[in-house]
Amino acid sequence: MAKFSINLKDGSVKQEEEKDIIVGIDLGTTNSLVAYINEGQPEILRTPTASKALVPSIVHFDESGSVVVGDAAKEMLISAPERTIYSVKRLLGKSYTDISEIKDLLGYTIIDEDEDTLVKIKVGDRYYSPIELSAEILRELKRVAESRLEAKIEKAVITVPAYFNDSQRQATRDAGKLAGLDVLRIVNEPTAASLAYGIGTSREQAETIAVYDLGGGTFDISILEIQDGIFEVLATNGDTFLGGDDFDRAIIDYWMETYSIPAQLLEDKAFGQMIRLQAEEAKKTLSSSSEYSFSFENQEFSITKETFESIISPLVDKTLEICRRCIEDADIELSSIDQVVMVGGSTRVPLVKEVVAKLFKKEVNDTIDPDQVVALGAAVQADILAGNRKDMLLLDITPLSLGIETMGGLMDTIIPRNSKVPAKAGRQYTTSVDGQTKLKVAVYQGERDLVKDNRKLGEFVLSGIPPMAAGMPKIDIKFILDADGILRVKASETRSNVQTEVQIKSQYGISEEEMALMLKDSLVNAQQDMDQRALIEAQNEGKNVALHSEKFIEQNAAILSSEEVKTLKSHIGTLRSQIESGTKDDINGAMDALNAYSTPLAQRALDHNIAVALKGKDL
Ligand code: ADP
Ligand code: MG
Repeated sequence: MAKFSINLKDGSVKQEEEKDIIVGIDLGTTNSLVAYINEGQPEILRTPTASKALVPSIVHFDESGSVVVGDAAKEMLISAPERTIYSVKRLLGKSYTDISEIKDLLGYTIIDEDEDTLVKIKVGDRYYSPIELSAEILRELKRVAESRLEAKIEKAVITVPAYFNDSQRQATRDAGKLAGLDVLRIVNEPTAASLAYGIGTSREQAETIAVYDLGGGTFDISILEIQDGIFEVLATNGDTFLGGDDFDRAIIDYWMETYSIPAQLLEDKAFGQMIRLQAEEAKKTLSSSSEYSFSFENQEFSITKETFESIISPLVDKTLEICRRCIEDADIELSSIDQVVMVGGSTRVPLVKEVVAKLFKKEVNDTIDPDQVVALGAAVQADILAGNRKDMLLLDITPLSLGIETMGGLMDTIIPRNSKVPAKAGRQYTTSVDGQTKLKVAVYQGERDLVKDNRKLGEFVLSGIPPMAAGMPKIDIKFILDADGILRVKASETRSNVQTEVQIKSQYGISEEEMALMLKDSLVNAQQDMDQRALIEAQNEGKNVALHSEKFIEQNAAILSSEEVKTLKSHIGTLRSQIESGTKDDINGAMDALNAYSTPLAQRALDHNIAVALKGKDL
């Protein structure tokens, strides 16, 4: 969309230079928001009809597989829990082993494979990755921004918790890409919140900031140091299962006890939903009044602010304890903290503000809406990246992602594009074949999911790996990128200490135009790339599962009946043929079936092996 301006004095028409709008996005566990800079000021974007700016981070699939996001999805939480996905941020970038303790708490099905592969969520007979589900939320935010601004939005800054690791950050980037967004930067939530308050937006002396973030289901405290516009996280701590939802639960418990309501009534959908909504309403009301009451089927329910504060006080104390530990970890004196920033809807509770101010011995920054502060700060960061804030230092960044080829021709990004230079990053890999003594390391540059679509920078071979079973060697790949764009790639097998190193000129022979084209291609092909990646990943995983199962039959012939061996082999056969010609859902389905059949057999084999081991010993 081109914009023209008319000079009213002389009637001349001039085309205005159109700058791409970069939005800032807070992709939250409970709620998400999008913001932009309007004439120098950050502003939340919402559709003209929306009653509130928050988009609940909830995705619902109906029977036909079509998807709704936000408030409409939230309404389905109680009536169709198995098709309604919430808290997907908790699963982003995580493997099955990472989430074993939380999966029982969620109302939808997480496929349990007890492996190091990334989690999948099953809805009907479709399998979704947390990246795809997060992309649905981002698509909704993109739609909101586009309808409000009447412009195409293709660039964004997205925030993540300070403790997010490399894999969680990469997953967030991938979700953005899948939603059709070029993610210019992943920013820490506490950094964004500070930026919204204008902290760190000018080059002043160093400051130390504590950011206290109490959301719906999570608590985070971060201590940052800011110098010359650069934010460094000194320490971060938190509780991933502590937040406003626990306040709601405390109110429900209080009512159930005070009015002697039998616990099983909570199982009743209508009553359960009613009381949950009332509890949240009560909590919010008590942030600004002294009492809340309502009646339901001739029973009056009420709660005073005083009671509310006394029942949540143990929860609030828990956050303070975590803050104290974080200050200790940061290795600073309490008095050297210059500012305290409040983030998250639950910091609206006056008690929370009071005790936090008391702990830090200073007034807290709470003038910006705590629901919105992260998204607003993300918009400020976007503005800095767009070069609109001349007072801000712009750091050198890598224009394209750098990574290596992994199984099936996939690109595994090690240093994402827009990382600050110099940069250092690495990851651990292993072998896929028994007795493998060599590993080819092929280095690529670009944003596409398959290396064949990216630019090859070079390759080398790490040799001399002692023969071991597949999966046993620990191969570290390290990328070290210096300020001149020279990339050093080091590969080493840590058990045996063999290593190799090469140097590559990453920017050599590529023009700005070619880079822009590569970026555009990655956005245009995002969906197709992601589908291909998902298929190849399912194939890789399927091959592993088939291989393991074959080894299992070999090693446990003694305890398996011939019938069981036959059934196992038939499941493996089905899986192998799905790997050859099936879709990712077919492969996942075949893996599920094989796992379901083999799990009790594996348990029996384990019991048997323990019994054998114990036999030889005196007890
Ligand atoms: P997240 O960062 O996890 O996505 P938010 O920062 O949006 O979460 O916080 C959501 C939580 O804030 C919910 O538990 C909600 O009930 C709570 N909340 C919102 N408004 C208020 C209020 N006025 N008083 C108390 N709690 C509130
Ligand atoms: Mg948040």
